[in-house]
Amino acid sequence: MPTSDRIAIVGAGPAGAFLSRLLCDAGFGVEVFEVLPKLAAKPCGWAVPYTIESFFRVPEDIVLCEVRGYRVYVEGRVEKEGGGRRYGYIVDKEGLLKHLLEGITVRRKGVDPTRLKGYDVVVDARGHVAYDGAKARALQAVARGVSEGNSEYIEIFFETEFVGYSWVFPLGGGRAKVGVGGLTGFDVLEARLQSLLRRLGRPQVERVEGGMIASGGLLQRGGALRVGEALGAVMPLSGEGIRPGMLSSLALFRSLTTGADFSGELERTGLPFNIKVQLAILRKLESLPPRGRAELIRSAPVEVLECVTAGCVTPAFVAKAIARWPLFFAKLGLPVRSPKPQS
Ligand SMILES: Cc1cc2nc3c(=O)[nH]c(=O)nc-3n(C[C@H](O)[C@H](O)[C@H](O)COP(=O)(O)OP(=O)(O)OC[C@H]3O[C@@H](n4cnc5c(N)ncnc54)[C@H](O)[C@@H]3O)c2cc1C
Repeated sequence: MPTSDRIAIVGAGPAGAFLSRLLCDAGFGVEVFEVLPKLAAKPCGWAVPYTIESFFRVPEDIVLCEVRGYRVYVEGRVEKEGGGRRYGYIVDKEGLLKHLLEGITVRRKGVDPTRLKGYDVVVDARGHVAYDGAKARALQAVARGVSEGNSEYIEIFFETEFVGYSWVFPLGGGRAKVGVGGLTGFDVLEARLQSLLRRLGRPQVERVEGGMIASGGLLQRGGALRVGEALGAVMPLSGEGIRPGMLSSLALFRSLTTGADFSGELERTGLPFNIKVQLAILRKLESLPPRGRAELIRSAPVEVLECVTAGCVTPAFVAKAIARWPLFFAKLGLPVRSPKPQS
């Protein structure tokens, strides 16, 4: 693609902003459209695993908290924990987007990517609104004075009554994002959020925000090129979408600039395989009664849990893990094959 080509990117979330940065740095003229007046206005926990560093250096000044440990609770008890190393970050997402969009003009306007005229390439990065696959729901409170936990630990509470989990992500200064998400209705999430807030000592709630998360895996449709959540580049089990969205943008950038096939470039990032693994676990959890879900999570080896949530599962890892923990994988119904995005 010649650098004289006009490129429009619709949506200034992590996926659209990162693609804009990559193209701009490579000498392309990019126009970004964003419907909302403020960047990062969409509800998000702002948690990013350390594996983002394989392709993007997180600027120090946007790190609100380094995640150096985690606890996973099942039915009120700690079942898994880890610590003593860096697992990821809680980032200032607005700071991240501003960093990525530095020097790039963002037109504050809502547009339909299929109707934009006068561009050689149009990329749909509108997030979940452009995704027509399955979606999970999430509800999150920004709270002050959370009494439980360690300021460098994240806490995950696996839900068993529905497929999903709750979280406490520290923001620093005694503030935290306390949320719950999964395959259920907002009324159930609201009740669960209130019970979690009670458990945390009734911290002062600054605001509660809700949103949808693409949970059906990659769906490459005809029309405009898609990246990020518009493409389904979200980990279906953990709901992690910042790093996967940016990774899909890296794949599209490589495809646009080298002429290589986009789905091949996506495959090369390992993202489709990891999404497929999380999707398989999600389907398994959906098929189980509450007790079965609790048992499955309890029996998950910590190494597998950490690798799956960091998005660094490879076919070689799966093969080794099956040999080491055959009973767990028999329960799960894995292995999975490396997929191609559906069309
Ligand atoms: C409650 C909640 C908590 C979450 N927590 C985490 C987390 O901790 N870590 C994580 O990695 N992921 C998390 N996610 C998921 C993550 O927020 C998204 O997957 C990620 O932001 C997707 O990035 P994106 O750039 O594809 O889309 P988005 O971030 O949704 O950005 C799309 C942008 O497009 C704009 N837009 C939409 N329509 C138009 C239009 N017509 N014209 C112009 N602009 C338009 C939107 O305003 C938006 O700014 C969470 C999601 C929710 C709902």
